[in-house]
Amino acid sequence: MTRVFNFSAGPAALPEPVLRQAAEEMLDWHGAGCGVMEMSHRGKEFTSIIEQAEADLRELMAIPQNYRVLFLQGGATQQFAQIPMNLLGGGSADYLVTGTWSKKAFKEAQRLAGPLGGAVRLVGSTEAEGFARALRADELALDPQAAYVHLCTNETIHGVEVGDEGLPPAVAPLVADMSSHILSRPTDVSRYGLIYAGAQKNIGPSGLVIVIVREDLLGRASLLTPTVMDYKVMADNGSMLNTPPTYGIYVAGLVFRWLKAQGGLAAMEQCNIDKAALLYDFIDGSGFYRNTVEVGSRSRMNIPFLLRDDALNDAFLAGAKAAGLTQLKGHKSVGGMRASIYNAMPIEGVRALVDYMREFAAQHG
Ligand SMILES: *Cc1c(COP(=O)(O)O)cnc(C)c1O
Repeated sequence: MTRVFNFSAGPAALPEPVLRQAAEEMLDWHGAGCGVMEMSHRGKEFTSIIEQAEADLRELMAIPQNYRVLFLQGGATQQFAQIPMNLLGGGSADYLVTGTWSKKAFKEAQRLAGPLGGAVRLVGSTEAEGFARALRADELALDPQAAYVHLCTNETIHGVEVGDEGLPPAVAPLVADMSSHILSRPTDVSRYGLIYAGAQKNIGPSGLVIVIVREDLLGRASLLTPTVMDYKVMADNGSMLNTPPTYGIYVAGLVFRWLKAQGGLAAMEQCNIDKAALLYDFIDGSGFYRNTVEVGSRSRMNIPFLLRDDALNDAFLAGAKAAGLTQLKGHKSVGGMRASIYNAMPIEGVRALVDYMREFAAQHG
């Protein structure tokens, strides 16, 4: 068996010890005589799995008591609709657009606002600048009456990230799509009304989405909201109104344990800073590759880069694959390359990528 260094943006690489443990437990979980995929979600075995997963996530992110953790389905995209259905309440919401994902979230909310009897406002967009930076607080005229303010804190396609320090002022509850950088750095959950993240970037298998929501935001859903999409109903039922994505929750739980064993989020952050610095420093000094995102807005997780000449892209990808470095092709809307270096990517993988890039530039420069 040969495992490559997999730079996929998502579904993305998982920590090898997690995959090994899942493989070991595939046929018989802890003496249950069956695997996790085959057991009742209401039995005591699975109850212990979901409770432990939630407890570990709460510990990792220091989630305050007045927040609920929901394990839902439908991916982050479903949340683009579920958020206005649950939170708009006939009012108005403010949206920041800094890349493909926040733009999709805005479009979906815009589509639903009318039927929901509310409104959405685009309060800032960097689209005209090619989504090459985050928005600054001083360029936003936020509505203090807004039902919520939506933003994406890591734009997976454009490689633009903001941490807690770059957030807009909390004049209204902040709702953040953290799909591609959750658990990569400490987050002060109390600064957000709602955090959501699809699992397949930094948590586990696709199909699972995690929602962390402040309790006072529950119970505001529009009557148009399907029961299975009502946060309060899901919270009241421990995410089990219906069958939850059990296997995804189990693997997410293994990832949470693995993160704790690595030293938690402060340790992960240092590792992610080191990995990203290695790659950006090389790109900036290469004279052959370039990343066009403003330095202060650069993502530690998703690093798009262009070669000096696009005609070399295919040769670059073929050589990378031969060197065991896969899924580096950039998103079609941006072109070039993208290296996604989530928690599960070891620094050795980034070193191997930089070595390959150096060699390729020397041959073609
Ligand atoms: C991948 C991604 C999504 C979409 O996730 P799905 O699970 O495919 O719906 C949304 N937002 C961000 C930031 C993402 O990276």
